[in-house]
Order: sequence, then C-alpha cells, then structure tokens
Amino acid sequence: MAEIRVRFAPSPTGYLHVGGARTALFNWLYARHHGGKFILRIEDTDRTRSTEEAIEQILESLRWLELYWDELYRQTDRLEVHRRAAEELLRKGVAYEHEGALWFRVPKTGVTVVEDLLLGRVEFANSELKDLVILRSDGTPTYNFACVVDDSDMGITHVIRGDDHLNNTPKQILIYRALGREPPKFAHLPMILGPDKTKLSKRHGAVSVLEYRRRGFLPEALVNFFARLGWSHGDQEIFSREELIELFDLSGVGKSAAVFDEQKLLWINHEWLRRADPSRLCRLLSEYIVQEGIASPEEVGALGEGKLRWAAELLRERNKTLVAMAHAARFLFPGELPWPEEAAGFLKEELAPALEAIASALEGCRDFSPAGVEQAVREALDELGLPLKAVAQPIRVAITGRTVSPGLFEVISLAGRGLSVARLRQAVRRLAGKGTP
Ligand code: GLU
Repeated sequence: MAEIRVRFAPSPTGYLHVGGARTALFNWLYARHHGGKFILRIEDTDRTRSTEEAIEQILESLRWLELYWDELYRQTDRLEVHRRAAEELLRKGVAYEHEGALWFRVPKTGVTVVEDLLLGRVEFANSELKDLVILRSDGTPTYNFACVVDDSDMGITHVIRGDDHLNNTPKQILIYRALGREPPKFAHLPMILGPDKTKLSKRHGAVSVLEYRRRGFLPEALVNFFARLGWSHGDQEIFSREELIELFDLSGVGKSAAVFDEQKLLWINHEWLRRADPSRLCRLLSEYIVQEGIASPEEVGALGEGKLRWAAELLRERNKTLVAMAHAARFLFPGELPWPEEAAGFLKEELAPALEAIASALEGCRDFSPAGVEQAVREALDELGLPLKAVAQPIRVAITGRTVSPGLFEVISLAGRGLSVARLRQAVRRLAGKGTP
C-alpha cells in the first residue's frame, strides 16, 4: 500500500482555535499511526485576509502541542503552478473568463458522489452546484481550486477536515476530474458544539490554543482533550500521546457532533498535572509565578529549587491549572496577603493570644521541617489547653491568605520561619485592632 500522506491546511486569517487544532491533531495522529507523512500547508492565497502574524501563531501553537510536520508549504509560493493548471482547464474548455476572473464550468446534469470514509455515500446534484471562480481577477487562485491542485501535487492520500467543508467536496471532485487527476479519499469530521448544543464559539470559552497555554493548561492535556472531540476508544478518557498514536484510527471517529466541555478539560488537565514529571512541573510553576506577577524571577530563584519543587508537588493536588497553582503559591513569597472574605468567620479577636503564642513557639523552633513544626505547635497548644482545630484555620489563613491549602505543617514549613512568624504577628495585630478583619 502506498504511503499515507495527510495535510492540515489552515488559512492564516486568525489564531489556531479548538476546531482547527482538532483537525490538525486528527491528521497528525492518522499519519503517525499509519507511519505516513503529515504535511502543513498554509493556505494564504487570500491576500486581503492572511497575515504573517497569524502564520506565526499557527506554527507556534502546533509546536507547543508538539504536532510537528514533515513538510511545510505556503500556497502563495505555488501561484505559477496554480496558473498553469487554470490554463489547462481553459484549454480543455471547462474554464472560461468572465469579468477578468477565470471560472470553472460545473456540468448542468448528473450527480457527483462523495464516498466519505465517515459519512458514507453523499450525493450532490450537479444542477445545484454553481460555476465557481478559480482565479480571481488579480490572478490569485481561490481555495477550492488551489486546494485541489496542491492536494494532488503533494500526493495527499486522505483529506481529513471538518464537515463544514463537505459542500466544497463535490466541486473539488469535479475539478480533479477536469484535470484528469485522481481525487484522494475524504473524511469529514463531525462538528464541535458548545455545551448548549449550538456551534462552538468564543462565547463558550473556546479560545485560541495559545490562550489555553496562558491559562495554565498542559499541551498533553489539550491533545488528550482534542482527541476526545469526536474520537473515542471504549470509555477511556485519559490517553498519552503514545497511546493515541497506537489507538487512533478513523474507525474510532463517531458520526454525531462532539460537545466541548470546559469542565472536562479542567479535569483532564488536573490528571496530567498529577502525572507531570516533578522537575518539569517545578520549572513550569516558576514560569507561571512570574507570568501571573506573583513574584519576580529573582524572588523565585531566591526561594530555591528544592522548595519550589516541594510546593509544586503539594499544590498540584488541589489545583487544576498552572495558573491556579501559581496563585496558590503566593504565600511562599514576601508581601501582604489579603484575607479572603470567607475567613472572617473564624478569625476571632479572642484568638490573638493563642496566635501570638504559636508565633513565639515557631520563632524558637529549631527544626523547621513539617515534623519539627508540628511538635512546636502542639507543645504550644498543650500549654494553652487548646485543640489544634481551634486554631488550624486561623493559622492557615494568616500564613497562606486562603482557607484551603496543603497540610498545615507542610505549609508552615514551606513558608519558612521568617514569613510564618511575621504573618502570624500581623494577624495578631489585625485581630487585636479590629475585632474581626
Ligand atoms: N484553508 C481551509 C480552511 O482553513 C482548508 C480546508 C481543507 O482542509 O480543505 O478551512
């Protein structure tokens, strides 16, 4: 069997969004699964709408997702080839000139059949298709024409794309025939809907791939999530890239529309955060801490890799994105921590003496490991005759500015003696001064 060659052919008129990324992924997986080639073709012949910035963003998005291409083409580099093909159609009498543009003449009778690998046989009455422009008056080719010439020249064996292109397929098949070339096989992917079952749009939170990176998602989580937009393998939800390559095939692609669910994406991201290699997670966390303006690169450096790594491993348990982890790491760095509103209830004035006693105990605590901290806190509480639960939340809020955090003694140990004692004393002053914060 001939080598499988598929392509992703984005028009660089905007960022790479969920739909495009899903199409790219399915093509990439199909190529990798079958040991074929994945070709990236930038369809930039519409010069009024294509931009260099969009091209850069698309390439950057694919690189970040690690959907590397084997060959890269820019359609505008091939204008001569497109013109020669148009002239061929003119010579054969299936194209004609009108108002400076070149048109393809669609037969008035008969049917054009698309044997779709996913949808089965779809028939189009030629009488319903209109003649179409193949070369604009400025000499640039239109999508339907350039796409056929390029897919054919590039030896594309399978065209896998969104079903919004199904109506273009009979026109493309007619152009293949007119050029005396063999059409590839077609597979039109089911569309992607928002949770309200309308066509996916920005309104549903579907943003560009790079925006997901900014929001703290891992590329392997997005690849996993995009794969499940229309493809399935039993009821498995978590797939590594290697597993996807092994398991992916068109037989797993369903016919019904896929539903985009941001909660599921968060869940998948959490799963991948928990699987992430600790050194990588630590490096990513430090990047997001800086991105989110929580600390400077110098402050992150001063904290040291050991602590950051420990923090990353603790914080990934309760946070679903790197951005959420970065914000939860704020307590590791000097600076005022605003108390959350829900903390008001348990930060009572009468706790001030107890918090001061604990601050003193921590100040004198020589072993600041979680175990050492625990011992110091428990001894102080014994003297005060208070149970841990009376002060656990107030200490947590004072030191982390949050009501939810990793284990209390780990948090105190991570924050370190200086910050822990200073924040407890600050809380004492706030409580003594105001009654409640
Ligand atoms: N440039 C087209 C698009 O971005 C490509 C469609 C196709 O895959 O043929 O929609």
